[in-house]
Amino acid sequence: MTAEILSVGTELLMGNILNTNAQYISQRLCDLGINCYFQTTVGDNHDRLIDAVDLALSRADLLILTGGLGPTADDLTKETIADAFGKELILDPPSLEHIRMRFARMGHEMTPNNLKQAMFPLESTILPNLNGTAPGCIVEAEGKAAILLPGPPKEMVPMFEASVMPYLQNRSGYTLVSRVVRVFGMGESEVEYRLKSLIGRQTNPTVAPYALSGEMKLRVTARCKNNEEGDRLIAPVLAEIQETLGDVIYSVDDEELHVACAALLKAYNVTIAVAESCTGGMIASKLVSVPGISEFFLEGAVTYSNDAKIRCLGVKKETLAEHTAVSAEVAREMADGIRLAANASLGLATTGIAGPDGGTQERPVGLVFIALSSNCGTTVRELHLTGNRERIRNAASLHALDLLRRHLLKYPENC
Ligand code: ATP
Repeated sequence: MTAEILSVGTELLMGNILNTNAQYISQRLCDLGINCYFQTTVGDNHDRLIDAVDLALSRADLLILTGGLGPTADDLTKETIADAFGKELILDPPSLEHIRMRFARMGHEMTPNNLKQAMFPLESTILPNLNGTAPGCIVEAEGKAAILLPGPPKEMVPMFEASVMPYLQNRSGYTLVSRVVRVFGMGESEVEYRLKSLIGRQTNPTVAPYALSGEMKLRVTARCKNNEEGDRLIAPVLAEIQETLGDVIYSVDDEELHVACAALLKAYNVTIAVAESCTGGMIASKLVSVPGISEFFLEGAVTYSNDAKIRCLGVKKETLAEHTAVSAEVAREMADGIRLAANASLGLATTGIAGPDGGTQERPVGLVFIALSSNCGTTVRELHLTGNRERIRNAASLHALDLLRRHLLKYPENC
């Protein structure tokens, strides 16, 4: 089966927006092993759109179009496809109801031109749009098919995942099974270097690295006939990745770091309290986002000023005067202080300079101390982070969570 992607929109031709839809769809077609030899971008012009559709249909079995499903006169995609497939446009009452309800929920009146968004070529399969008004559709005739999707990526991508992937899997006879390995504490280039030969020799499953903010993930994807076959193909590759990367892997199920930490707190029945300066509540907020954490997360304090560190955590005035607030000594006293104040098994603390101001030569922006206090003692780490304020704060919170995770991995040896 061959597919072509047709991106509709004058904005694309004028360079006002980047064609991220075509990139995303190409990747998904590639995942499914569906060949795509041409991508076309065409403006909102009836004649040129017809030419592009006719040409694409002469070469490919499947045409995937994005854009031009809106209510205005220059939204022409459905009309053009209906002509090309020799089908008339008819009203779909459930889609009209969905559009009406959406307008009502937003407190707007539905204007008559919106009716157009509920019209589809006869015998289309309608694809619900949970994130916008215009539904998509699939039109089939004489062994060929056209899939019409909305332009906005936040509408197109969920529709593609929910409705188009199953259709394509069914048509191609293949399904995709994926596992996502998440890594913290090893840079993207080192991960790729270590896995170079594995990544290079894999065709099925494939191993694709993705950089995230401050961490990375590896998606292992098998093209297979069913889930069992997918699991069987993935298992040895996953084992090799785990053996090569070791304990920088914190999840093989695409869980976030704080979710992995919460699972370990639960597994070992350990309580925690957090004192945050530069991360300003980020760690507490991440942990609290995990359902059921209330049994293990006792308290979080955002102690930004020196006074708050003294009053809430018992940090000594002399320590602050001698070492300053951004120091290993203060991080240690913060972690010990919150653990004792909350009567928790563990105390986790951060203090640092997130910038852009406040750095000096000895204490530059990005200098962060994190500390973990337990009955066995207190561990402090010095970090030198880079990036803007948001990146530094996010990276500091991830490093602190990783310190916690590594401590918990050694339970019950650690206490
Ligand atoms: P709407 O109902 O919002 O009018 P539509 O299906 O008619 O949606 P367009 O009007 O063609 O889609 O595009 C709407 C917006 O979607 C564009 O302004 C742009 O922001 C985004 N968009 C459209 N096509 C693409 C694309 N190929 N890649 C990325 N973004 C796109």
